[in-house]
Amino acid sequence: MIIVMKHQATPEEVQHVVNQVEARGYRAHVSHGTERTIIGVVGDDRPLEDHHFELLPGVEKVLRVLQPFKLASRDFHPEDTMVNVRGVTIGGREIVVIAGPCAVESRSQILETAFAVKEAGARILRGGAYKPRTSPYSFQGLGEQGLELLAEAREATGLPIITEVMSPEDVPIVGKYTDIFQIGTRNMQNYALLQAVGRTSIPVFLKRGMMNTVQEWLMSAEYVLSSGNSQVILCERGIRTFETATRNTLDINAIPLLKQWTHLPVFADPSHGTGKWDLVAPVARACLAAGADGLIIEVHPHPEQALSDGSQSLKPERFRELMESLRQLVPALGRTM
Ligand code: PEP
Ligand code: MN
Repeated sequence: MIIVMKHQATPEEVQHVVNQVEARGYRAHVSHGTERTIIGVVGDDRPLEDHHFELLPGVEKVLRVLQPFKLASRDFHPEDTMVNVRGVTIGGREIVVIAGPCAVESRSQILETAFAVKEAGARILRGGAYKPRTSPYSFQGLGEQGLELLAEAREATGLPIITEVMSPEDVPIVGKYTDIFQIGTRNMQNYALLQAVGRTSIPVFLKRGMMNTVQEWLMSAEYVLSSGNSQVILCERGIRTFETATRNTLDINAIPLLKQWTHLPVFADPSHGTGKWDLVAPVARACLAAGADGLIIEVHPHPEQALSDGSQSLKPERFRELMESLRQLVPALGRTM
């Protein structure tokens, strides 16, 4: 249930409604928009009647949110959410590109990549330190040493960093270093992990589960939001279909659909979405054309030597070319870069 306050409602009237919501055993989530204040009733609101709130002073109307995700829904929060990370605004007019290697492999590899992607115009550096590999025999990441190297690269370039956290126990250590928590496709429904990052104030980059619907994905976002963290960014990274020619099938439909259903920023990952470096640039452009607020792209100085995802990684030179083409595209989309 959403309680829409009148344009001229006073702070006391808003507080009175919040008190009434809480007195009935629900949590009230207040959202102050430029036009009006909206109060979301969090919890199973089926026993509530509209008139419990409709008659209170300052209330304009009571709406029922039909979708099961509430805090994530645009009904509840009509304006776009913007996430600020060390001066970089995600979800605004500017297209934000995150780039870097799949995994941090060495000091020279992450520093070389960081300087190259910064030079090309990336705003945030990516790199995995804890890697969710399909095989236990594959490179698992450098762990805390990888986090230290990422922090050193941030220091050297000024780029904020994003890295994956795989378990609730690792949230404190990863949170000590990172500017954004990445939740990978394999953990989209790891509810204990979602709640653990939801109890922090560090932004969460939530990738779509490779076998999950958009609604299930938004319910996962709801876990983070309802744990108290409003800074969630969604990332379409491709789903499993019958097609095997590409690693995944990037669900381009999900991008404009999400822009309708939710106020959260929407990113796309054409690297994992395709699995092939020579498909990354065209799919990246398609994602922006479909309305994505940004991209995450894997870049490696020597893809043939990469310890993970070399076949989908761009060399710095190719990444520079891609960024150049995006800079030509974004004005036509009414965006900046
Ligand atoms: C990654 O970003 O390197 C990664 C493992 O992504 P995903 O969880 O989407 O597979
Ligand atoms: Mn990867």
